[in-house]
Amino acid sequence: MDRPFFLFDKSDRSIYIISPLDSCVTSPAACFAVARLKPPGGHAMRTISFNTLVNAISELVVRTCVILPDDVLNAVGCALGAERHPVARSILGQIVENATIAREDSMPLCQDTGLAVMFVDMGEDVRVDGAGLEAGITEGVRSGYREGGLRMSVVRDPLRRENTGDNTPAIIHYRIIPGDAFRVLFCPKGGGCENASRLAMLSPGEGRDGVVRFVIDTVRSAGGRPCPPIIAGVGIGGDFERCAIAAKRSLFRKIGARNPDPFYAELERDLFTSLNALGIGPMGLGGGATALDVFVEAEPCHIASFPVAVNIQCHSARHGEINL
Ligand code: SF4
Repeated sequence: MDRPFFLFDKSDRSIYIISPLDSCVTSPAACFAVARLKPPGGHAMRTISFNTLVNAISELVVRTCVILPDDVLNAVGCALGAERHPVARSILGQIVENATIAREDSMPLCQDTGLAVMFVDMGEDVRVDGAGLEAGITEGVRSGYREGGLRMSVVRDPLRRENTGDNTPAIIHYRIIPGDAFRVLFCPKGGGCENASRLAMLSPGEGRDGVVRFVIDTVRSAGGRPCPPIIAGVGIGGDFERCAIAAKRSLFRKIGARNPDPFYAELERDLFTSLNALGIGPMGLGGGATALDVFVEAEPCHIASFPVAVNIQCHSARHGEINL
């Protein structure tokens, strides 16, 4: 063979040019130069194998349900250091002890191992082979909840209430991003704190004070139901559903990470102070530690609209991430 030939790889749409080399001294018949051309559009597709995705999601699910992130554990420790109420101190101490035992014995942090909420950032130049992305995430959730002995908390239908038996389907939010990165954020969202969350379509004239009133009123009405100390994720703007998604996504921030806009960072600090002045305390039994943090995310919105959502996260603020 003395002329180049071409191979087309269907998996990533790359074209390989294979050319014989004249100068090969050892075995001229077996010497080729291989060049890879990227597909039209400029980028070769990166392929993640279905099994790699399933195994990574399964491991993510188990790890996240067992290990309380360090930033949350530190925040509970700080709240314990500042707390004067004896019952509150005892509860915060038990939260720290529970997290230590869960990590050491690979036990779930809470009996409610939640609805599997996923935020997927998927590069436009990456794909999952085999049965594909959503099937891979679903199979990973199924496997993780079974392997980890985690509670199955999903019913197939909200009125007929039959348990699906494997904690699927997950709630999956997708975002397409440039490049070939692939990231999944996972939060097992407990029912108690999700049930205490609220959304309101305020009037634009209500402004900052309206947001403050709504957030405080939501946390006050929730009382001990969401297992405080809580983290409040607040979404402002967007439309009805985007506002709620922004509130939930904000809960993946690390404790103490302020909104980069100083205007919203100040709102977060003010809300944090106001919530901790409510006296609800750990598990609603009184004390200074009602909230561990408040995260605010703002989105552009319609001139006539002012949606505000408060997604409450309990003290068992489990969240994890994989990058493939
Ligand atoms: S709200 Fe959180 S801590 Fe309370 S039972 Fe549900 S998952 Fe557990």
